[in-house]
Amino acid sequence: MPIFEYVCNQCHHGFEALVFGRDKAICPNCNSKDLAPQLSVFAVSTKGGGTTTSASGACGSCGDPRGPGSCSLPEMD
Ligand SMILES: [Zn+2]
Repeated sequence: MPIFEYVCNQCHHGFEALVFGRDKAICPNCNSKDLAPQLSVFAVSTKGGGTTTSASGACGSCGDPRGPGSCSLPEMD
């Protein structure tokens, strides 16, 4: 099912909405249909740096750059 992210142009409320066919999403905060669709969830969550995962091989659960599952390996040698 398609889930889209919108920011309401009227009250600037951000929300996710399921959209079926040609139905238009409606702001749950003010019931406005004047919405700005957000293209990508991932494009807006990378600011700030630090612990953002840029390496494709990083562990998915802890972000360990050594690769998936590295965090569960015992610290040897
Ligand atoms: Zn609104």
